[in-house]
Amino acid sequence: MTARWAKFINGLLILFSSLIVFIGAENILKSGAAGIENKVAALFILFNLLIILCTVVFGVFWNIFYLFLVFLGILRLVELYHIRYLIYFLPAYILTSLIISVIRIKMLFQIKGYRNRIEVLEPKLALLNKDFEESEKIKEALKRKFERLSNLKFIAEELSTTLTLEEVTRCATDRIIEIIPRADTSLIYLVDDRYPAGDNPELVLSSVTTKAPESESGNMAADIFDRWMLRHVEPLIVTDAKRDFRFSIGAVEEIKRDFRSLIASPLISENRIVGIVRLDSPTPDSFAPDDLRILDIFSDLVAVAIENALLYRKMEELARKDGLTELYLPRYFHMQMETMINSRRVKNLSLLMLDIDYFKEYNDRYGHIAGDIMLRKIAASLSPHLLEHDFAVRYGGEEFLLVLVDCDHRTAIERAESVRQEIAGQIFSLRREATQVTVSIGIATYPDDGKTKEELLHKADEWLYYAKEKGRNRIAYTPIK
Ligand code: GH3
Ligand code: MG
Ligand code: MG
Repeated sequence: MTARWAKFINGLLILFSSLIVFIGAENILKSGAAGIENKVAALFILFNLLIILCTVVFGVFWNIFYLFLVFLGILRLVELYHIRYLIYFLPAYILTSLIISVIRIKMLFQIKGYRNRIEVLEPKLALLNKDFEESEKIKEALKRKFERLSNLKFIAEELSTTLTLEEVTRCATDRIIEIIPRADTSLIYLVDDRYPAGDNPELVLSSVTTKAPESESGNMAADIFDRWMLRHVEPLIVTDAKRDFRFSIGAVEEIKRDFRSLIASPLISENRIVGIVRLDSPTPDSFAPDDLRILDIFSDLVAVAIENALLYRKMEELARKDGLTELYLPRYFHMQMETMINSRRVKNLSLLMLDIDYFKEYNDRYGHIAGDIMLRKIAASLSPHLLEHDFAVRYGGEEFLLVLVDCDHRTAIERAESVRQEIAGQIFSLRREATQVTVSIGIATYPDDGKTKEELLHKADEWLYYAKEKGRNRIAYTPIK
């Protein structure tokens, strides 16, 4: 039966009940206020009113109780007042009562069925709920992972536009600590490329980003963990530095820096370890395997950026250097001289202008290729005469400049003479034939011979011309007063 029918029957019952109330009230009024029958009738009216209220408020479930009372009430009315026509309502009441009871019982069974089903469903629902909670957790983890990966994408873009090695490593240590914020310090060590591969190379700190105050950051030099990385060339996770069987506790305690857990990943370029990126924290168990995976992806990005930076450096070198002699090109000389003189970084500076004597003849005699070989050899013999900040330039065809930084006039004369002597004393064998060349050198010293690069070049050129004039294979300079 539908709810609409139930409502309809309910409405009918309310109607009957109201009728009974009306009849009861009418009887009281007719027979006056006295008499026990009237009191019973009044009580009966009250009951009916209460039942009407219950029926309206609580709906069909109250109908059984209600019908029973109405039934009793009708019988009572018939008995007391002999209102015989009311007896005709009785079959209708009984029928309605039966219908309502059937509905009610059916509903009770239905409810029981529902309860049973709910009992069966409950564990399934619990499982579903658990699944849901777990999927929420996975969703959260995926969200975090996605965020980290999209951060990595931005970093990859940033790194790809960074050209110098210093900028690459600084950007890398700054960014990785943002992606893995549990880290306290991020460090990048680079393998010192002066050592050939496999020769027990050294690690040099290239960049460090730390949340610790500078006073507490300690000694950042590479330690046993970094050297382990260098040997094993694989990612490393240490949950507690003082309880890791791979590292001797004595060696760990010697480290002058406060950290308990770390993760590190090698920077590999062209199948060779070029450095290490490392994160550490002063508390144990700061990193999860997932952090190490992210660091590993990150280290691949950084390795590519380092490779690019090294290539860029090489290209810059190539652009600055002459292909035949590997000495600097004039452009570099002009740039450096201007920077040094303008910034007043140097007190003294001497310029040696060097030209090979009779080189045209040499070319004519042995050929242009032999001339090239000679140029390369002479260039190579210049390098040992250079000190830390000095540099050599191929200024023209067979003309060289030696820039001797912080070198006074007297010293410059001595050093120029030693260059000249060394070249003059060298025997260059060419197709089993011993050949020799000499050079002439003009010297100019800043600031006495000139205060600008042009003045110095002019003076050195003048003295070179003078040396040539005086018979070559000699040096010439402003006499010392
Ligand atoms: P000097 O300087 O003593 O007066 O005589 P020189 O014969 O060296 O005269 P000069 O400096 O004028 O000649 C330069 C010669 O250097 C001319 C050219 O044949 C040679 N030369 C210049 N550049 C190169 C080069 O790249 N390779 C070779 N093989 N020869 C070069
Ligand atoms: Mg010459
Ligand atoms: Mg010349």
